Amino acid sequence: MNLNKGKVVYVLDASFFINLPALQIPEGECYTTPLVVDELKDSRSSLLEEVMSLLRALKIMSPSKDTCKRVEVVSRRMNLDVSRADISVLALALMLKEEGKSPIILSDDYGIMSIAEALEIKFNPITTRNFKRIHKVITYCPVCGRTFKRKTICPICGVRLRRKLKLLK
Ligand SMILES: [Zn+2]
Repeated sequence: MNLNKGKVVYVLDASFFINLPALQIPEGECYTTPLVVDELKDSRSSLLEEVMSLLRALKIMSPSKDTCKRVEVVSRRMNLDVSRADISVLALALMLKEEGKSPIILSDDYGIMSIAEALEIKFNPITTRNFKRIHKVITYCPVCGRTFKRKTICPICGVRLRRKLKLLK
């Protein structure tokens, strides 16, 4: 008998923290991945400490490479631009689902939600209506450091842009 069968667990992506209303996480088992933690660590702010203490209540787990590859295949087929951290969140949820749990991804990232739907993973968009925005997402080039909007490749260096969170004061 599998005691974990059908157990609802939450998988949080970085956008969960972007739109975090009151620095709290849902009750129950919450997961995220090391890549999401790295993304959050990249942000500089007075609130970072609170976000980090919140992360201590989560289970930080890496999905298997095989599961990541399967998610990548789906994202490429859907032609969606998602970060490695996003892929890791989806792959972790998929892994938990295949272990017999009922994962729910908490995110308001369009790419994540679309791929979750394709993988038949439940998701719960974070409603931003009553939430105070405490972060914004910066898309930057890891080589020259310039920031861009609505680009995926640096037009100067030709490398893939990364995203990080900037906490608003
Ligand atoms: Zn560049």
